[in-house]
Amino acid sequence: MEQLTILRDLQATLDYLATIQRELAALPPDLATLDAKVKATEKQIAEKTKALDTARAQIQVKSKELTQAQKDEDRARAAVKTTSQKLQYTAAIRELDEKERLKASVSKPLKALEITVQALEQALAALEIERVAAQAQFDELHAIFLEEHSNQVEGRKVLLVKQTKLQAKLTPAEVARFHRLANARQGRAVVIVENGACSGCNVKLRGPIFFQLKEGKTLITCESCQRTLFLP
Ligand SMILES: [Zn+2]
Repeated sequence: MEQLTILRDLQATLDYLATIQRELAALPPDLATLDAKVKATEKQIAEKTKALDTARAQIQVKSKELTQAQKDEDRARAAVKTTSQKLQYTAAIRELDEKERLKASVSKPLKALEITVQALEQALAALEIERVAAQAQFDELHAIFLEEHSNQVEGRKVLLVKQTKLQAKLTPAEVARFHRLANARQGRAVVIVENGACSGCNVKLRGPIFFQLKEGKTLITCESCQRTLFLP
């Protein structure tokens, strides 16, 4: 059955790729430290960017409030100027006082927010410089690391081409199923049957399933773990 052969090849390719990936992911200590630094800096940048967005949004709200408070104050001041009667004048002054107080209660936090934004922008600029420097250092050492592991890098290229070619022989749904299973089942979507049991989940195959598998007419999957099965 050709489909099973392709799936088995695909599984073998995936196994080799996983091995290479593990070797390439095992960074020496200096590189691992730099990698951690880049990631930590990126995290800080993300957090500060979020804080900056929040502060900017608050500034927008407060700015609108301030514009309104300014208008209210202007109106109150104009009222003071046009009032001639003593009684009304006292009330108008009181109204102006009130509006001035309201404006101050908006403008103070607004000022604080503007200072926060400035501080965040400065911190972000400094972090970005740090990130770029750490990334450059990492890239430089990583290039050397990859050169030392050129066999794996070359092997990965070859395997990825092979994977693409194999997948082209299957339907997109079959390819998707294969990878979904592999991801959910420790990288193993196609497994051998040993002593009448699925070697993926160790559940014994039922008689009829085992018989169908021996017949080799259709693709058989494990009833317990859904992995594709084949006989030794
Ligand atoms: Zn199974």
